[in-house]
Amino acid sequence: MPVSNCPPEHCADLIRSASRVVTLTGAGISTSAGVPDFRGPQGLYVTRRYDPEKVFEIGGFRREPRYFYEFSRDFVGLVRDVQPTFSHHFLARLDRLNKLAGVVTQNIDMLHQQAGSRKVIELHGSYYAARCLGCGRDCRELDYRWWETAMQLSSTPPVARCESCDGVLKPDIVFFGEMVKGFEAAEALVGGCDLLLVLGSSLQVAPASWLPHATDASIVVVNRGQVALPRSSGRYSVDSDLDDYFRKVADCLGMR
Ligand code: ZN
Repeated sequence: MPVSNCPPEHCADLIRSASRVVTLTGAGISTSAGVPDFRGPQGLYVTRRYDPEKVFEIGGFRREPRYFYEFSRDFVGLVRDVQPTFSHHFLARLDRLNKLAGVVTQNIDMLHQQAGSRKVIELHGSYYAARCLGCGRDCRELDYRWWETAMQLSSTPPVARCESCDGVLKPDIVFFGEMVKGFEAAEALVGGCDLLLVLGSSLQVAPASWLPHATDASIVVVNRGQVALPRSSGRYSVDSDLDDYFRKVADCLGMR
């Protein structure tokens, strides 16, 4: 059984005495908002029977983008009206207090930005931008409503296409076989922190799982279930619902 060894009061103390908090977030921070994870028991791959190799394989996408776009139609429909969680807002408040040096996320749901976090490194990209595979045109500042329209217009299959050349648009999401984005910046950010909060990630997926090794600062991991973090001093793990835990931490900090 995972052990929780960081009561909320202690986490609050660590945050109080830190000035450069960095957080690394995974799917677990967004599931309570209603964003399905990918591989969990209720994950998109499981309930909708997508084949991840077909959906996110870059060679496959270039040959036949419909599998990715069938997934995207469902994903965009699910997350379009989702609101950030208490934990997303808590991090944004640390940001406004100039305590938070930045967020590194494995998520593609853009909820950190929606909550107001200013520095967000999206290791797996997001739907915020896209590039045309035909003419190379870049599209930016896209939101879910834009994608819904773009996918509906081209009906069946729901492939979003370039206005200029009708080429296939590829969202700025990292596919299998592509490099993650901003890893060096993420490593530098973590390397310069004085407290690392790992939220909703089991630290089992590389290269995000390498990031905790970039710092000697205290690390608090809050996640449901097992976490792959070696135990040593200054390393804490909490097996808890994130929002419940950070409501208590916020209370200790007088932030409610
Ligand atoms: Zn084009």
